[in-house]
Amino acid sequence: MTKITPRAHPRTTYQAPIRYALLNSEEFSTAHTSDFSYEGLCCEVPHKIEPDADVCIVMQNYTPGNAGLEAYHSYVARIRWINLLSKNGSERYATGAQIVARSHDILSTEEQIPKIECDLCGCLESMHRVNQTVKGVYLCRRCLRHFSKIPPGKIRQCVERFLVGNVV
Ligand SMILES: [Zn+2]
Repeated sequence: MTKITPRAHPRTTYQAPIRYALLNSEEFSTAHTSDFSYEGLCCEVPHKIEPDADVCIVMQNYTPGNAGLEAYHSYVARIRWINLLSKNGSERYATGAQIVARSHDILSTEEQIPKIECDLCGCLESMHRVNQTVKGVYLCRRCLRHFSKIPPGKIRQCVERFLVGNVV
């Protein structure tokens, strides 16, 4: 039997084709969603993903202006749970992921890897190359190099506050 957990937001059953990859990988796999809510989504995937892994999910039916999941081009989501599904003898997994970030952004032509903006310099960087420093703040490699040189203390706190302010 399926365990029913109370949820803060209602779930909508919705099957849509997606491509996904681990956040630091370029190896995309094909899968589909099974339902979603404001804060997360469930997918049926062909491979096991470790809980707490961050994945990049690209909607194949991206439709700007729509209200559902397809309103955004891509998501960064954190895997919360994964269960083995046995379907017609082939192994699939059901997984639930929490949405960390949403993006309307541009595709790079060959790999279809969405780009997101660096919160410090504003350059566009492939999603798998950006680094999250503070919650919801993404930095390109160059900015991260500068940022990581700031010693812990007052100045670093100010920079962090500035970065979070840029996002909120
Ligand atoms: Zn930057």
